[in-house]
Amino acid sequence: MIQNLRLLNDKYMSCPRILSGHPQNGFPTKAFGNDRSLFFAAKHKHFETSILFVLLFIFSLTSCAPRGERTPLLLISIDGFKPEYLEQHPTPNLHRLMQDGVLAEGMTPVFPSKTFPNHYSLVTGLYTENTGVIANNMYDPKSKEWFSLGNREAVMNANWYGGEPIWVTAEKQGVKAATMFWPGSEAPIKAVYATRWMPYDGNLPYSARVDSVIAWLSVQDTTRPDFLTLYFSGVDDYGHRYGPENKDSMAVAVGLVDSMIGYLLSELERVGWLGNINILVTSDHGMAQLSNERVILLDSIIDMDDVRMVDWNPVAMMYAKEGKLDAVYNALKKSESHYTVYKKEEIPEIYHVKNNDRVPDIMMVADVGYAITTKKMFDERGVGGGTHGYDNRSKEMQALFLAYGPAFKQGERIPTFQNIHVYELMCSLLGLKPAPNDGHPDSLRHVLR
Ligand code: AMP
Ligand code: ZN
Ligand code: ZN
Repeated sequence: MIQNLRLLNDKYMSCPRILSGHPQNGFPTKAFGNDRSLFFAAKHKHFETSILFVLLFIFSLTSCAPRGERTPLLLISIDGFKPEYLEQHPTPNLHRLMQDGVLAEGMTPVFPSKTFPNHYSLVTGLYTENTGVIANNMYDPKSKEWFSLGNREAVMNANWYGGEPIWVTAEKQGVKAATMFWPGSEAPIKAVYATRWMPYDGNLPYSARVDSVIAWLSVQDTTRPDFLTLYFSGVDDYGHRYGPENKDSMAVAVGLVDSMIGYLLSELERVGWLGNINILVTSDHGMAQLSNERVILLDSIIDMDDVRMVDWNPVAMMYAKEGKLDAVYNALKKSESHYTVYKKEEIPEIYHVKNNDRVPDIMMVADVGYAITTKKMFDERGVGGGTHGYDNRSKEMQALFLAYGPAFKQGERIPTFQNIHVYELMCSLLGLKPAPNDGHPDSLRHVLR
């Protein structure tokens, strides 16, 4: 447990603040001091009174949260956070938000329940077949290019991202956006970037991420963003490594993120934004426990030379080599146990994934808790602690949705809903005209006051 904590701390907490510039606190004390000396230098009584009024006016503008036309919206993602963690682990800061805000029983991810597809559907309101972000690993038959999370060139290439993310909707309509990491935010989608964005750096300490958000909110000019994001990956990392059922380890990762939410709240309070900002705390998907007893060894079912793998686990996607489609499919069908195999045209409509060029010939979806691997990989590494990607309707894959701020009801609990509706909600909170999307503007109206 202590070693776990040290590991997480080293990675996310103990580095010095990397971002240059300290959060501004919104009180321009220096300017005030200068104005004051001006005030005492003035001889004329009438002039003194006028100056006093001007100063009082300036003070009234700056001494509480800066007011603009709209209430800023901060969209937070805690990657791989299951709503159950709120009850399983001490999370006082998230509980504070729950108490005074809206908590959904769950939020259904898009299929496959992976990181890039879901973060991108959350901000576009589109199913995966309409974003084109159909997996974390993809092949595009038109451009003949490959995509993976570690491929910086691909991640920053706008051709991979369809639809219109909310920061583009915002910037196009004159509303400033700032992303403290979000899948897609590093690419010029529709030739637009958020006013502020950062190249993804998983090692950037969480406190520095919060400091950036506070600094951006504290800007006193027209570049101050009204839409912001904040991203934390440690709960997902620990879920993969130890499994969601490993209570001691998960408590460490969940506790760290909760403490960062606490730090965020205290910083928002310090600069006068708390109570004047709407906050959505979301996750992209849940996490299922794996076991070395629940394994599907692909190379013991098919000849791996007959296929080209695109993605692996727990949703295997593959192209069959010339003339091999039926042989590969039939072999997989014959051994179909603890997984379901589909030819592309057979993929159920309910997944909203198949109508896209990037979906290859064959898709295999493992049952929840099963892992797809090969004999060699299994012997070398086992299956690990946990994974996600499964049927998006399964209990284990449900994500987190928590809404807090002046726009939202207090102490409200709502039933599970699909994450494609969040884009419409965010557009309505920011007064933006939404781009075409798969969500419905009324679906989340009941969370609003
Ligand atoms: P998954 O394989 O679906 O569990 O993906 C989770 C991982 O996505 C995290 O551990 C992050 O390192 C990675 N990730 C999150 N955001 C980004 C990003 N903007 N660019 C590249 N990788 C990312
Ligand atoms: Zn994820
Ligand atoms: Zn993950």
